[in-house]
Order: sequence, then structure tokens, then C-alpha cells
Amino acid sequence: MNSNEIDIHKELKKYFGFSQFKGLQEQVINSLLNKQNTFVIMPTGGGKSLCYQLPALIQEGTAIVVSPLIALMKNQVDAIRSLSSENGVAHVLNSSLTKTEIVQVKKDITSGLTKLLYVAPESLTKEEYVAFLQTVTISFVAIDEAHCISEWGHDFRPEYRNLKSIIKQLGDVPIIGLTATATPKVQEDILKNLDMTDATTFKASFNRPNLYYEVRTKTKNIESDIIRFIKQHKGKSGIIYCLSRKKVEAIAEVLQVNGISAVPYHAGLDAKTRARHQDMFLMEDVDVVVATIAFGMGIDKPDVRFVIHHDIPKSLESYYQETGRAGRDGGEGHCLAYYSYKDVEKLEKFMSGKPVAEQEIGFALLQEVVAYAETSMSRRRFLLHYFGEEFDDVNGEGADMDDNVRNPKTKVEAIDEVVKLLEVVRDTKHLYKSKEVVFTLIGRVNAVIKAHRTDTQSFFGCGSNHDEKYWMALLRQVLVAGYLSKDIETYGIVKITDKGLDFIKNRESFMMSEDHEYNETEDEAIVT
Ligand code: ADP
Repeated sequence: MNSNEIDIHKELKKYFGFSQFKGLQEQVINSLLNKQNTFVIMPTGGGKSLCYQLPALIQEGTAIVVSPLIALMKNQVDAIRSLSSENGVAHVLNSSLTKTEIVQVKKDITSGLTKLLYVAPESLTKEEYVAFLQTVTISFVAIDEAHCISEWGHDFRPEYRNLKSIIKQLGDVPIIGLTATATPKVQEDILKNLDMTDATTFKASFNRPNLYYEVRTKTKNIESDIIRFIKQHKGKSGIIYCLSRKKVEAIAEVLQVNGISAVPYHAGLDAKTRARHQDMFLMEDVDVVVATIAFGMGIDKPDVRFVIHHDIPKSLESYYQETGRAGRDGGEGHCLAYYSYKDVEKLEKFMSGKPVAEQEIGFALLQEVVAYAETSMSRRRFLLHYFGEEFDDVNGEGADMDDNVRNPKTKVEAIDEVVKLLEVVRDTKHLYKSKEVVFTLIGRVNAVIKAHRTDTQSFFGCGSNHDEKYWMALLRQVLVAGYLSKDIETYGIVKITDKGLDFIKNRESFMMSEDHEYNETEDEAIVT
């Protein structure tokens, strides 16, 4: 119960027409009504908005809602207004308003009519707004999409970093932070940056039991594979994500030629075309949208039946968000990702132009995606573990809903090979990237190897009983296991870790998954 003894069930029914709270909503609302700093981590669709909308509507004063996207704010304001007979109950305050509109907004706030004021973080930095907000009663500040505060989140926005100092100027008001993406690292960043390590945290499960996770090796036949997949899901809605605009166009065309109704969507198309293609998808005039990550924010189509990743995403957060658009109605949702290590290298190359700190983070996030793609354990367990949640992969809900569980990969003992690989990395003294390490093992010469005279060493060719593909696959699995690491600054120089040195000494078992291929895919620029 909250200390104000407000019957929030009655208020829920009155404002929203719902007879029950969803998940942790009731506890969250009580925490906020008790003026506690509150932190909410719930997957998309979990019902986060109501956690601050209801307390805002039933308390004195105005709640400030910080949200990163003007389009989303507008939708929210329209939705709130439909709940009340008063137009001024919710407002947006941003640079798009005219002077007259600003006067009206201020008037509604001062008179106590406005319960929710949506602002973009950059508007809050304006002194005149802050000065005005200091003169009115603020019930609390809600920070939506709170992961934007963290460089480790998938959508870092520097303006979010100023929020705490601005909120402090508004007096002692409770803060509620909300996000759908929170690895333990992001969580810690949010709490630290908002200076609310005392916050009561509410975390809902991120498990989506109706989603089926599958990773397929990307081969030259990927297009026909996708076409076959879509034809097996005839008439159903799906999204295909690609990393480049060029690929989006190409795949959309290939699908159309093959009799599949598909449209492209990326930031390079003009706004009108984008809106038209989005509408066509929502209205079911087309089955498939082929898109860059520009597509999907705020899209609420409950019956998306599949989400295909033609290229691997940059982080598991993005992957979870993007696949999360499937099966929102609780029905079937097939999440299929195509994986090729060449794509990883392409992304690494793409990141090399960025500032060092950003590179390091990008690199680390990408390694997690590689580990996910290459894992032979339950994918659901892997994903949930990434979000700090332990999943019981025997009895948990949706435990059999992934390829690794349904068709376990063949595994073979590879101790001897791992030792050979580690020794080569150690004995070539951290000179080489993966390619040269593998060449050294199979005994192939190139200019780099010649320059270092590695071909004259006794261990040159010590792994010639296996081919290049085999060693590449093993090297990646050994990287994931942490026996080797890739140097960030030198762009991919492979090094042996302390754990790797221990392995050589102790020779523990290493079970290698057998079925990964190493494929060539064409190079192209990545632009979303
Ligand atoms: P999120 O912001 O976490 O993605 P939303 O706030 O958009 O989620 O809510 C997702 C959906 O759940 C919305 O359609 C909303 O109307 C619905 N919803 C929220 N709370 C309840 C509830 N207590 N009972 C029934 N439906 C709810």
C-alpha cells in the first residue's frame, strides 16, 4: 500500500479501464507514490508507461517525462488526452511549439491542469524552461528509455548525462527511470548517473517464451534460403533486418521478383516513401519489410511472425529489441539470424574509424554477439544470462524453443588442437591476427609470415591435419571461451590470456562444436 492510502485499483479502472495491474506495475506505482526513487526494467510491451502515467494523473502537480523521441512523445500525449476530458492534462514542451503555444502550456501547468509534461532532454537544458519549472509543483521526474544515459546501452545520448544536475535544480523530487534494455552494466550506469543508487529496483523477466531463436550459417545461398523460409510462412508478416541500405534494396528486390510482397525501409528513402512503406506493412498490404535498424522504434504490430537478421547485429541488446518485435500477441515468433564471421570482421573494420572508447565498447558488445551465434547452449539461457537473469533451460518457460536445444550440435573433444593453437599464438609472440595464426598452423605462407620468418620455425604447419575452416572455427570458439583475446588497439592481433596459459599447463577438456563454416561475403559500406 502507498502511504497516501490512495486506492490505485479504482484509479486504474477510472483512467485506463483496466481491472488489473500487469506484472510489477502496482509495486512500482506504490514506490513512486511513497516518493521513493524507483528504477524499472521491463521488456518492451511490459506496460512501463502506465507506471508513471497513473501516479502522475492522481497526484498533485506536474510530472516531467523525459523521452528521447518527439514522435513517441506526441503519441503518448494523444493517448493520455483520450483518457481525460481536459486537453491540457498532457503537454509536450519542445522546440517545435510556437510562442503562443508555449504560453498556453505554461498556463495549464501553473493552474495545475497539466499532469504530464513530456520534454526532450535538450529542452530541459534551456535555462528559461528550468527557471519556469522551478516556480511550479513537480510531482516527480520520469526518465523514459533511461539506457540512453549509458555508453554501454544501444542508444547513447550525451544529453541524458546532464539530466541529474538539472533535476537537482527542480528541488527534491523523486525520479523514476525506465528502460527495456538493461544489462547489469547499463543498470549500474543508469543508477550512478542519475545519482540514485538508493532507488528501489523492479525488474521483470525478459523471457519471451513464444519466441523461437535460431542461428544459421550464412552461405552464398542465403537469398534462396530466406525465400524458402518466407514461403513456408506464407501470408504472414515479417521483418528482415540488414546492415546496409544497399543490401535492403537488393533483398527487397529479390523477394519481389520471387513473388513475395515486400518493401524496403531505410533512412536513405524520403520521409513520404518511408511512411508509405511502414503503413503498407501495418495495414497488411505487404507481408515483409526489409529494413535497416531505422525501422521498428515505436512500431506496434502484434502479429509479426518472424524477424530475420540477414546480417548479425552490433549488440545483443539490439538483437533482443529487434527480435522482440515478433510475436507480441503471444503467438508464434520465429527469430532467425544468419551468421558469418566475415560480417563480424566487417563490423570491426567499420568501428575502427571511431574514437577509442567507443571502439572498445563496440568491440566488447560484438564479441557477445559472436559468442551468442557460436554457442551450443540454450540460446534463451544465453540471452537471459546476458541480461543478468538465470534461466532454467530444462523446466523454464520456452526452454525447448531454440535450435540448439532441439538439434544439439555435435561436439568433439579438441584438447590437443586447442593446445597447439595456444602454443602457436604464444610462440609467435603476439604478432598475428587470426588469419596468420591459422596459416602458421596449416603451413601456408604469405608476405606477413615471410617477413617474420615464421615459415622457418619448427611449429610451422603443426596443424596441417586440419584445414583452414576448422582452425578458424576453433580459434573463434577458443576466443569466446576466454583462452585467447583479441587486441582492440591493433585491430585484431590475437593474444593468449592467463587462462590460456593455464590451459596449456592443465589440459582441461575442450568440447568443440563442429558445424561452423567460414564463408566469404562481399564487402559493402554499412550505413543505416
Ligand atoms: P512499454 O512502454 O513497456 O513497451 P506500454 O506502456 O506501451 O509498454 O504497454 C504495452 C501495452 O500494454 C499497451 O497496449 C498498454 O495499453 C497495455 N497495458 C499496460 N498496462 C496494462 C494493464 N494493467 N492491463 C492491461 N493492459 C495493459
